[in-house]
Amino acid sequence: RIAAVDGDATSGIHAFLHVDTEGALAQAAASDERRAGGTPLHPLDGVPIAVKDVLTTKGLPTTCGSKILEGWVPPYDATVVRRLKAAGLPILGKTNMDEFAMGSSTEHSAYGPTRNPWDQTRIPGGSGGGSAAAVASFEAPFAIGTDTGGSIRQPGAVTGTVGVKPTYGAVSRYGLIALANSLDQAGPVTRTVLDAALLQELIGGHDPLDSTSVDQPLPSLVDAARQGATGDLTGVRIGVVSEMSGEGWQPGVMARFQESVDLLVKAGAEVVEVSCPSFVHALATYYLILPAECSSNLAKFDAMRYGLRVVPDGNPSAEDVMRATRDAGFGDEVKRRIILGTYALSSGYYDAYYGQAQKVRTLISRDFEAAFERVDVLVSPTAPTTAFELGEKLDDPLAMYLNDLATIPANLAGTPGISVPAGLAEEDGLPVGFQILAPALADDRCYRVGAALE
Ligand code: GLN
Repeated sequence: RIAAVDGDATSGIHAFLHVDTEGALAQAAASDERRAGGTPLHPLDGVPIAVKDVLTTKGLPTTCGSKILEGWVPPYDATVVRRLKAAGLPILGKTNMDEFAMGSSTEHSAYGPTRNPWDQTRIPGGSGGGSAAAVASFEAPFAIGTDTGGSIRQPGAVTGTVGVKPTYGAVSRYGLIALANSLDQAGPVTRTVLDAALLQELIGGHDPLDSTSVDQPLPSLVDAARQGATGDLTGVRIGVVSEMSGEGWQPGVMARFQESVDLLVKAGAEVVEVSCPSFVHALATYYLILPAECSSNLAKFDAMRYGLRVVPDGNPSAEDVMRATRDAGFGDEVKRRIILGTYALSSGYYDAYYGQAQKVRTLISRDFEAAFERVDVLVSPTAPTTAFELGEKLDDPLAMYLNDLATIPANLAGTPGISVPAGLAEEDGLPVGFQILAPALADDRCYRVGAALE
């Protein structure tokens, strides 16, 4: 299937940056043998999976969609990858992404964009457009994504797949090349809510190699998905976030959203409107905290330790090599954020920008806490629009950032969220996503309500 539809940088889906045909077939053969012997390692033993190219894979290239890591082969597996392998899931390869996970369209990949399987002139979302497109185009039944501000959920929404951002700390970040450490979280991309529950249970759980890993079991996600699938939500209180709709939200998206809300009411849920006033500042807050963290994280790509090294002519100093390498190796969006973050963290400005953003971040968490005293979950459309045209927002960073309006609050608060398909928008026939947000460690609620909509 990958050979038939994936194409390359110029045509086809281009979900993959690297396909490990030989490795995946060998892993599949070993799995067949275990199954024939009646000793599978796990219920998902043998189910192939695609992994976003931001997670390290021993022996397989890992580029983060960047030229600066071209040719780098990590010597170790991310914990998520190690757990997949230990359960017998063949790793198909690495999926395309916006460079260092910065973007909402996968157009910032240094290796060419991924195309939306529903309409190849459209974006597949981002930054994890490769993982979502691989699943939507039936190139992979499962994929792993990462979500720092929406990069699992928004691609899920615009490709008609299920995408989950688990509670911060519920899935190990060891081997996840950091965009913004306090926001990043790996999670499942699948076609059904139950698949996602199985996958999160497999990759999640405490990991001593990640100091932010939560050492506390979550309620069963698979049970929650099965319970939701009965279609009965009697007693569940659902809050519609009033700040996450209105002006600028595509009418066809709002219509499908409303239809899903009506379905939840029919399933017995109680629906109320909830206001989270600080959410309108989430985007501004995110675009200080994220650049601050990433400007510091990306300092390690210094031409000495990893990947690319550009040596200018003459007798260059170490600094000349560093400058030439970073100039050639990083794309525009990455440079934009490094500049923004370095500025926000500079002495004299630190309190005014970074410090202030941290305070607003606390207010956003408090809005969630207040809301979750009244309701069990919050809901909204996952993204304000369906998939836009390739190139449409590429030269307008602010317009691109606005696509993450509804997904970013959960990252700032560390709480879980899921995007489930909600049908197609009437005006363009493209998929719409329905987002469900829950309190920290209550990921099961996302699965229960999500499964009730399938
Ligand atoms: N689109 C958002 C950004 O550009 C989110 C990225 C992400 O979740 N990795 O930062």
